[in-house]
Amino acid sequence: MKIPIDVIPERAGHLGVVEIPACDQRTLPGVVSQRACVLYGARWMLAPVRNVIHLIHGPVGCAYYSETVRKKRYRVFSTALDEKDIVFGAGQKLETAIRESLSLRPGSSAVLVYTTCAAGLIGEDVPAICKRVSAALGLPVVPVNCPGFCGVSQGDGHDAAAAALLEHFIGRGPAGPPLENSVNILGEFDVQGDLKEIEQLLQRLGLNLICAVSGRATVENMARAHRARLNIVHCGRTGRWLARKMEERFGIPWRKVSFFGLAEAAAALQAIAAFFNRPREAAWVEKEAEAARQRALPYLRRLAGRRVALFFGASRMGSMARAFGELGMEVVLCGSQFGCREDYAESRRCLGQGTLMIDDAHQRELEEFLHRYRPDLLVGGTREKFMAHKIGIPFLVFPQETSPYAGFNGFVNLAREVAALVGAPVWRLMIPANLVEPPARREGPAGGDSAAVKTVGDGKGGNEDGTNL
Ligand code: SF4
Repeated sequence: MKIPIDVIPERAGHLGVVEIPACDQRTLPGVVSQRACVLYGARWMLAPVRNVIHLIHGPVGCAYYSETVRKKRYRVFSTALDEKDIVFGAGQKLETAIRESLSLRPGSSAVLVYTTCAAGLIGEDVPAICKRVSAALGLPVVPVNCPGFCGVSQGDGHDAAAAALLEHFIGRGPAGPPLENSVNILGEFDVQGDLKEIEQLLQRLGLNLICAVSGRATVENMARAHRARLNIVHCGRTGRWLARKMEERFGIPWRKVSFFGLAEAAAALQAIAAFFNRPREAAWVEKEAEAARQRALPYLRRLAGRRVALFFGASRMGSMARAFGELGMEVVLCGSQFGCREDYAESRRCLGQGTLMIDDAHQRELEEFLHRYRPDLLVGGTREKFMAHKIGIPFLVFPQETSPYAGFNGFVNLAREVAALVGAPVWRLMIPANLVEPPARREGPAGGDSAAVKTVGDGKGGNEDGTNL
């Protein structure tokens, strides 16, 4: 099947309508994609750890996006390296910054020291400095090895962050038998109350949460995390590596599940109940899912047959594609900034052949797709928001900025907010200069081949309406 938008030859393998796109590779030089660096990935994952200091050892510019991640505020410090530090080294400056940040935030439980490209290039021995200061101060001062150049995307930063947690925090408490009915959740960041929704569902199964990495991670609860009976992996990209390592080190089994969408949330709860051998405690799950569907019904009627393009993180692609399918929407694009093969394979299983999948897209490719196919909604990160608005397409930011989307209540929230966005009168008033006739909307529930992609990919070339943008 033909790729339905024009791409430069070197990027061709990163788009696919049948197969899994090429991924986990460095961005093509000269292409300004939507990716962030390894340092950002590490900070994104560790930002929610409570009561710790985040100190970036590098030029002050590396402390970009500093105090807000997912609409929450996290205090970030920087050693603000300058030219002199690059020439003569900045070990002493780092030590002073650690002490100074602690004097500004007394009572902090730990200091996380992030290395940047500059610190990596000059070969600063950050682990040795952290070890020395940690011994002197009597609290964990932990190096996070994440210079921007040491990986292909923020995904490698997630691994660096997980490695730091595993080496310095997880399982540091006293050894002991597994705690009854206890679980950890790995790869859950408590966006807008998602974790509370999930925890309430787990409590109805009689389970207790020890630690959520990193949405509810503290130095204390991570120290006890090795005593959980089960690790629940919510985001595969940020949780799977840690789950495998915890299984090797502490013998904790794990299950990858998703709490987004009714079917996935119900399946997750039943799988967890089966693990704990208590299927009767899960008898309410199907009823609860159906009740949520009834509450969402007025919105589902408005969304049936609408078309949605997804472009965000990585391993939420498949589960969110399924959730939008349950809303009755047709997924016409599914892409990610830094997905790995496992993520794309899962998404392809959900979507079947015919939906365009795209890895590490840059703005030009996304714009062309939106112009040609005019989906009813683009779901993406903040960086894509204004591009969509300028083209006249409703936009939903994900991870979300309004209310929880996880669990049964979260599905109703998602349906309500998507229906409000798609139906907002403002989009009828906006007629961009380059508007082409939108492709015929497919009626009925989502799934199977995309009408838009098939029409253009039939060898005729150009747009469905015969125009070429
Ligand atoms: S790529 Fe390097 S220099 Fe740029 S922000 Fe990331 S760590 Fe800093």
